[in-house]
Amino acid sequence: MNTAYALKNVNLIHGDLNRNLQKNMTILVNEQGLIQDIRRDHDLNIPSHYTTIDLSGKYVMPGLINAHMHLFADGKPFSLSVSEGLLQFAYDRILNTKFGRNVLKKRMKHNALNALHAGVTTMRSVGEFFYTDVQLRDEINNGDFVGPNLLVSGFLLSVTGGHGAPFLALVGDSPWEARKNVRINVKHGVDLIKICVTGGVTDAKMVGEAGRLQMTVEEVAAICDEAHKIGLRVAAHVESTEGVRVALQGGVDTIEHGSEMDDEIIRLYKNNSNALNGYTALIPTLQAAYPSSSLDTSVTKVSATVKENSRLVYDSMLKGVKQAIENDITIGIGTDAAMPYVTHYDMWREMDHYMRQANLNNKQVIDMVTRTNAKILGVDDVTGTVDIGKHADLIIMEQNPLEHIEALSDISMVMVKGNLIQTPSVTRIQEVDDVLNSVW
Ligand SMILES: [Zn+2]
Repeated sequence: MNTAYALKNVNLIHGDLNRNLQKNMTILVNEQGLIQDIRRDHDLNIPSHYTTIDLSGKYVMPGLINAHMHLFADGKPFSLSVSEGLLQFAYDRILNTKFGRNVLKKRMKHNALNALHAGVTTMRSVGEFFYTDVQLRDEINNGDFVGPNLLVSGFLLSVTGGHGAPFLALVGDSPWEARKNVRINVKHGVDLIKICVTGGVTDAKMVGEAGRLQMTVEEVAAICDEAHKIGLRVAAHVESTEGVRVALQGGVDTIEHGSEMDDEIIRLYKNNSNALNGYTALIPTLQAAYPSSSLDTSVTKVSATVKENSRLVYDSMLKGVKQAIENDITIGIGTDAAMPYVTHYDMWREMDHYMRQANLNNKQVIDMVTRTNAKILGVDDVTGTVDIGKHADLIIMEQNPLEHIEALSDISMVMVKGNLIQTPSVTRIQEVDDVLNSVW
């Protein structure tokens, strides 16, 4: 049982683009952590056993949802340009040992809590080692500690030599092997299936090679069929136009990263009978590609090839974003936190990026990161807006994010499923923040 709360005198932002800010509202949160009532201050009777918190002048909105992140790292720059032999050694002798797995789990828990304290009440992990994300989700859901709502993918699904393989992925080279890998992940308790349809910037050896097609339509379709029949969504890593086509034809529910579109692709996004909802949503990750494509290699320490591929992927992804906006394709917000220069605590940077580069306004990006993300992830029945009956997943700010999106970088309180974090503490990485602040 939680404490029941009355949050008084709030300026309420519902999360829904079509609803206006409401002043002087009171939100009642019951012992089950659910939003029980939302009324104007003067016409609400507050039960005497409720803890009243006066939030005069403050702004309350739904907790942020990060639709694409990884818990295994924190956004400090790292380089993968070491030999495969060295990676194998590090994996066998360090990561995949009892000690290594314990360190990994602690680090993942730290990253999840850091994100939560920064206002991210729901996060979807899309590629982790050893089902550690499943363990953390279960510990949170069992009440072992107060944590975010976690939706977890476990290992990626890839092909031999494919993106994320062999360490971060289960490898399959036919529709039946791919089905088996879905079943393995399901047996371990995942909430969704993450697949790699194309390569990525990190594994491209030549300029123009990032986004090379790796899975076939038959493999993607088998994975989607296997996942969808038990109601699981399929998220696809894709970094090229042809990759997007294959993923959409196979019936995936979200395209992660994305690329420039043609008419067939636009049609398939909007009307995809093989996807669980009948359409496919796009989850770009602009901030993840931007620093390595725009910063000098003396800062990022990446090779000229990586920088050029990042630029190609970023430009194509941004074109895809603009086309998605023009054509009313559903767009969610994910950051790819864990990648170099993408931290778990600054989701506002990704939102700010859409405002600068795609002319979206504050209201639109706030809707995307709350209501729309919840819908895309299939959790809109419990979170994503401030509505009676939903979980009390809320963030409280001094400043109005409808006026300054950067208000989201300074969260005064966080509530997740009715558990109030009254003095959140966020561990920031100064070197990364300094670089990002210098980018624009
Ligand atoms: Zn990712």
